[in-house]
Amino acid sequence: MSESIFLVEDDVIIASGLKYALEQAGYSVTHAKDITTAKRDTGIYDLAILDVGLPDGSGFDLIDGLRSKGVSILFLTAVDDEGNIIRAFESGADDYVTKPFRLGELIARVKAALRRRGGQAENLTLGQVTVNPAEGKAYISGIVLDVTALEYRLLLTFINNKNQVLTREQILSQIWDSAGIFVEDNTLTVYIKRLRDKLGDAMQIETVRGIGYRAIGN
Ligand code: CA
Repeated sequence: MSESIFLVEDDVIIASGLKYALEQAGYSVTHAKDITTAKRDTGIYDLAILDVGLPDGSGFDLIDGLRSKGVSILFLTAVDDEGNIIRAFESGADDYVTKPFRLGELIARVKAALRRRGGQAENLTLGQVTVNPAEGKAYISGIVLDVTALEYRLLLTFINNKNQVLTREQILSQIWDSAGIFVEDNTLTVYIKRLRDKLGDAMQIETVRGIGYRAIGN
């Protein structure tokens, strides 16, 4: 499964060049052009590349939300913008690259940030369920939960968006993007049921009538 990158950049030329280069390097890339679009996104990412200057705010506005989901962060800043560089590190960024940058250098920084991440990816929990993203495994009270790749992605989607209503479309887009598996809307119900059966009382996935699902708990 390829590592996934969330690119938030308003400059269309930079964004498309970067997306292409990262995809060539084997990453899956989702692009958002501004803060509003980025905040609406419910994807699961290993790394976010955030432009500091965006039309509706600053890349800094996205840090807290991404950090809480365990996403590594790399900032794109203007040359010699020392204030922003210091601020980026204080707010939890892993690295920064100044514009204009060479694609080769940026890819190298991305690789390094993802390598560092390997050992430090934090566990995610909800109810009695713990997910270890570095291992790609889920546990209930310390015992490995036997799930398929698709069920694992479903579980990760719910845990990353706990207490939030997810539409069926949002959930389906997650499964397609990450696992490369095509799931029809009506089979989603079946997958959710199987996952619920495996989870038992350890985690609660509520059906929100006419909309989708929500995983509840802390
Ligand atoms: Ca910009």
